[in-house]
Amino acid sequence: MDEEFKQNEYRKLHEMQQYANTQDCLQQFILRYFGQTGTEPCGRCGNCLDDRAFQDVTVDAQKVLSCVKRMRERFGKSLVAQVLTGAKTARVRELHLNDLLPMAS
Ligand SMILES: [Zn+2]
Repeated sequence: MDEEFKQNEYRKLHEMQQYANTQDCLQQFILRYFGQTGTEPCGRCGNCLDDRAFQDVTVDAQKVLSCVKRMRERFGKSLVAQVLTGAKTARVRELHLNDLLPMAS
């Protein structure tokens, strides 16, 4: 595949990811994509109407990533969840993963 074409496809994919993850007005995002700046939020799109409270999950995310790291990045989400919740299943005990606890809470 032509390298320039490939880079352009990656750029478009990246733009799509940003659209999917933005918490800003979706209409503004699209307008900005097409070069129109300085617009106001529309007040009608899913993001403008989203009234869920902002929640900082940084510490929780750090705990999860720390656990994954301490499990040497060798296991999937089910086992990681068991270790994080302190489950003493046969598999957790067999792999001595309960020794990783207690984690800071
Ligand atoms: Zn909007």
